[in-house]
Amino acid sequence: MKNTVRRSLVLILVIAMFFAGMGILLAQFIIKGPDWVTNKADRHIYYNGAIINAGEIQDRNGVVLAYSENGERHFNESESVRKATLHTVGDTTGFIATGIHKTYSARLTGYNLFNGVYNLKKHGQGNNIILTIDSEVCALAYEALNGRKGCVSVYNYKTGEIECLVSAPTFDPENKPTDIDTDESGKYDGIYLNRMFSGLYTPGSIFKIVTSAAAIENIPDIYSRQFTCKGSYEMGGGKVICNGTHGTISFEQALGYSCNSAFAQIGELLGNELMTQTAEKLGFNKDFSVGEIDVNTSRFDLSKAVAIDLGWASIGQYDTLVTPTHMLTLMGAIANGGTAKMPYVIDKMTSPAGTTTQKTIVSNCKTIKLEEDTANKLKSLMRVNVNKYYGDSRFPGLSICGKTGTAEVSNGEPHAWFVGFSDDPSFPYAFVVILENSGSGSSNAIPVANTVLQKIKATKN
Ligand SMILES: [Zn+2]
Repeated sequence: MKNTVRRSLVLILVIAMFFAGMGILLAQFIIKGPDWVTNKADRHIYYNGAIINAGEIQDRNGVVLAYSENGERHFNESESVRKATLHTVGDTTGFIATGIHKTYSARLTGYNLFNGVYNLKKHGQGNNIILTIDSEVCALAYEALNGRKGCVSVYNYKTGEIECLVSAPTFDPENKPTDIDTDESGKYDGIYLNRMFSGLYTPGSIFKIVTSAAAIENIPDIYSRQFTCKGSYEMGGGKVICNGTHGTISFEQALGYSCNSAFAQIGELLGNELMTQTAEKLGFNKDFSVGEIDVNTSRFDLSKAVAIDLGWASIGQYDTLVTPTHMLTLMGAIANGGTAKMPYVIDKMTSPAGTTTQKTIVSNCKTIKLEEDTANKLKSLMRVNVNKYYGDSRFPGLSICGKTGTAEVSNGEPHAWFVGFSDDPSFPYAFVVILENSGSGSSNAIPVANTVLQKIKATKN
């Protein structure tokens, strides 16, 4: 009797182990399947580590940005389009980690969980990927960067579609420079990074939008308060320097003049805890992704901050870092009454036969939590900024809400920022422009934003 029980137990154990083993194998297959198939040893898809056979990548108008022909991978015929769309499309060797060629390699090469490389073997190519970007707009944005490093992006805040996405420096994938690895001049710094997703920048004055949100929600009489600027403000034995001497000003004027003294005082009224709480509600220290593309995490950390650090943090200096994607989405949230649509770059995927295999569904961004009332107040303040301070004439025919930034950095000239959106239901676009080491945001980043917005407007007529 005892033996029978023991035998049964052993048998049950063996069966359990068998199923556990099967489970692990299946899990491995699901998790690693795409990697096994896109292993660079597969000569049919890769040659010398570069993708050779894969589906087409097209822009929103059907312009082909990358395709395979006779066992070779090619890009668009225009050099400026190739350079302007490189970081979104990605290179064939996957140096650009956030590019479509790398991030979506399994789908692009035709990998399918059940059929393996069925599509590829049957039709000679994988899925086509249709992007939301407009390659002509991207080419113009690249031209507007005029050799400067940085990035420009514009997205439709009602649908989430990113229509413009350019990161510089860039290179021509049909003619890759041979001195990228040996160059010491710095002209190729971070050339494989899509700055839109991976760039972490000091925000400078564009962060005053976040400080303003904290003030609107936590200082009941913020609109009736007066602030004094004598050219600087002393805090905890240190001094926050202003860009001017603004005298006695209101909250609205403080944002319009981008007065550092007033914003350091606002930060002091709020304190570390409320500032951190608001920053985190607005997406700082939170994970973020665009489709399956990982975006770097914006950072706001006052855990080691002394009094003067809070002053600097309130005006977007100190240790704070942001990604352009985060800032763009925050602009979308303000424009859209507090709820941002998630930005995305892939509209859909189609099989070689032309059927849609995957389509992006518009979704709300859960990382940014902005009250509707706060969003509307920020929108009014940012509209006043443009209307009274920067000038509507700098955006002919548009109604823009925005904030400039001139972020001080340790190496060289400040970064020039301009972020905002069009406050027009028939033209619902939010934008971000950052030009590294390029001086004033107003003088340098505003014209780039206007050029790109005018181009998008022209494409819609
Ligand atoms: Zn001032």
